[in-house]
Amino acid sequence: MIRRTTCPTCRKHVSTANDNPWRPFCSERCRLIDLGEWMNGNRQITSGETMPEAVRPRDPDIKH
Ligand SMILES: [Zn+2]
Repeated sequence: MIRRTTCPTCRKHVSTANDNPWRPFCSERCRLIDLGEWMNGNRQITSGETMPEAVRPRDPDIKH
Protein backbone atom coordinates (compact mmCIF):
# COMPACT_ATOMS: atom_id res chain seq x y z
CA MET A 1 0.00 0.00 0.00
CA ILE A 2 1.43 3.33 -1.06
CA ARG A 3 0.79 6.16 1.33
CA ARG A 4 1.02 9.75 0.23
CA THR A 5 1.67 12.88 2.18
CA THR A 6 2.52 16.49 1.48
CA CYS A 7 6.02 17.88 1.49
CA PRO A 8 6.21 20.38 4.39
CA THR A 9 8.45 22.64 2.35
CA CYS A 10 6.90 22.89 -1.10
CA ARG A 11 3.47 21.32 -0.45
CA LYS A 12 4.01 18.83 -3.23
CA HIS A 13 2.45 15.42 -2.91
CA VAL A 14 5.15 12.92 -2.04
CA SER A 15 5.22 9.19 -1.59
CA THR A 16 5.98 7.82 1.84
CA ALA A 17 7.03 4.50 0.42
CA ASN A 18 10.38 3.04 1.37
CA ASP A 19 11.93 4.19 -1.88
CA ASN A 20 11.73 7.80 -0.76
CA PRO A 21 14.70 8.42 1.56
CA TRP A 22 13.66 12.05 2.14
CA ARG A 23 10.15 11.39 3.37
CA PRO A 24 8.13 13.20 4.51
CA PHE A 25 9.88 15.62 2.16
CA CYS A 26 9.97 15.25 -1.60
CA SER A 27 13.73 15.68 -1.90
CA GLU A 28 16.95 16.30 -0.03
CA ARG A 29 16.73 19.96 -0.96
CA CYS A 30 13.35 20.43 0.70
CA ARG A 31 14.57 18.56 3.77
CA LEU A 32 17.58 20.86 4.12
CA ILE A 33 15.44 23.93 3.57
CA ASP A 34 13.10 22.83 6.34
CA LEU A 35 15.96 22.14 8.75
CA GLY A 36 17.56 25.46 7.91
CA GLU A 37 14.36 27.34 8.59
CA TRP A 38 14.04 25.66 11.95
CA MET A 39 17.57 26.67 12.90
CA ASN A 40 17.12 30.24 11.73
CA GLY A 41 13.86 30.60 13.63
CA ASN A 42 11.97 31.60 10.53
CA ARG A 43 9.14 29.24 11.24
CA GLN A 44 5.95 30.92 12.35
CA ILE A 45 5.68 28.56 15.31
CA THR A 46 9.03 29.75 16.68
CA SER A 47 8.35 33.43 16.07
CA GLY A 48 7.73 35.53 19.16
CA GLU A 49 5.73 38.13 17.28
CA THR A 50 2.47 36.23 17.62
CA MET A 51 2.97 35.49 21.30
CA PRO A 52 0.11 36.99 23.32
CA GLU A 53 1.13 39.54 25.92
CA ALA A 54 -0.79 37.66 28.60
CA VAL A 55 1.86 34.95 28.78
CA ARG A 56 4.53 37.45 29.82
CA PRO A 57 4.92 37.60 33.59
CA ARG A 58 4.03 40.93 35.13
CA ASP A 59 4.34 40.20 38.81
CA PRO A 60 4.81 43.49 40.70
CA ASP A 61 6.79 41.67 43.40
CA ILE A 62 9.61 40.89 40.97
CA LYS A 63 12.55 43.23 41.56
CA HIS A 64 14.44 44.30 38.47
ZN1 LIG B 1 9.36 19.49 -1.49
